[in-house]
Amino acid sequence: MSDFDIVIVGGGIAGASLGAEVAARRRTLILEGEDQCGYHSTGRSAAFYLESYGGSKVAKLTTASRPFLLDPPREFSEQGFLHVRGDLHLARGELPVLPPGVESRIVEREELERWLPGLKPEWRHALFEPGCADIDVAALHAAYLRQFRRAGGTVATNAQLTRAIRLGDGWAINLGSGDTVNALILVNAAGAWADPVAESCGVGRLGIEPKRRTLVQLRVGQSGLRDLPLIDDADGTFYFKGEGDRTIWLSPHDEIPTDPCDAAPEEIDIATAIDRFEGVVDWPVERVERSWAGLRSFAPDRLPVYGFDRDEPRFFWCAGQGGFGIQTAPAAAKLAAAVLLGELPDPMVAHIDPAIFSPARFASD
Ligand SMILES: Cc1cc2nc3c(=O)[nH]c(=O)nc-3n(C[C@H](O)[C@H](O)[C@H](O)COP(=O)(O)OP(=O)(O)OC[C@H]3O[C@@H](n4cnc5c(N)ncnc54)[C@H](O)[C@@H]3O)c2cc1C
Repeated sequence: MSDFDIVIVGGGIAGASLGAEVAARRRTLILEGEDQCGYHSTGRSAAFYLESYGGSKVAKLTTASRPFLLDPPREFSEQGFLHVRGDLHLARGELPVLPPGVESRIVEREELERWLPGLKPEWRHALFEPGCADIDVAALHAAYLRQFRRAGGTVATNAQLTRAIRLGDGWAINLGSGDTVNALILVNAAGAWADPVAESCGVGRLGIEPKRRTLVQLRVGQSGLRDLPLIDDADGTFYFKGEGDRTIWLSPHDEIPTDPCDAAPEEIDIATAIDRFEGVVDWPVERVERSWAGLRSFAPDRLPVYGFDRDEPRFFWCAGQGGFGIQTAPAAAKLAAAVLLGELPDPMVAHIDPAIFSPARFASD
């Protein structure tokens, strides 16, 4: 039986980044149920950084993360994690309104045709968001796990929390293997399983809902696509970005409520993706090279949840990262760490009020 100050359930980007921020100051264990961290949502993302995504409150975390992602401290990574490609928000009618402070400019049809030869006539114009970038998710996640271990943290894979019981001033945590681990504080960074994990610990659910999203790698009869901007539409019905010279990553922007699971793509969602793509450009679709799906988990107000449970003060939520958990990870981890440790926030997030993301916002009146 081992004793830790903090046990974090979940070794995806949320658990790894928060762990990396606290491990030097508390004996910390990450429990990951799978045989590798990052098997679920973190390993399945579309891997982009888009400041306008998720509304103005999420944008605070995204924007604050940018300098770190572009130019991280040397000891964290020798290289940055962003590769800028820009985003064209296409519109048939009204252009979208972006959160305040997000740089953008209007692109009229003539210029749009130079970016997207073969664009269907109904797409009148677009808003170009130049700051949109690819994120090297695998490298970022690995760097957080490396920092966590270097700071003294322990990662246990194939280590599924099955139940946790409040004992004295902490928790006795039962694992699928039959082992028990003790901790003073339990952190729930279990992604799609955040609500079931809370229940296994005798803590009430917050209503965090997993929603399936599908991605397709398509080969098309058009070349020169590798550095194509991210292309999406103002109504949020698809997005695609260049992957190889003649390949793209395409999503139908699906949000199918799903029980937590090892998500897999459905034929209907792949067909919808292709149908929507064919409504954008006239590039012949040659074949689906691969497809995958993952779960994006949202709290009822679609904001993430960082903070101690309102009824169980030794249970900390780090959940509901929706479709922005990678791009917000640096700032979110620093903000959550300050709340978890009861310390002053890092300058990166000193301007962000952690109350915005507190589970207390769900308190019944
Ligand atoms: C298709 C798709 C596209 C996306 N695109 C983007 C994007 O472009 N940019 C962006 O920023 N975000 C994107 N996201 C969102 C991003 O991937 C998530 O917000 C992020 O990965 C969530 O991280 P997490 O650590 O909370 O979850 P996860 O990576 O799912 O990690 C949670 C972990 O908890 C473990 N776990 C659960 N229960 C237990 C238990 N009882 N015991 C032990 N371990 C347990 C699971 O095995 C899992 O590994 C996308 C997501 C999807 C699905």
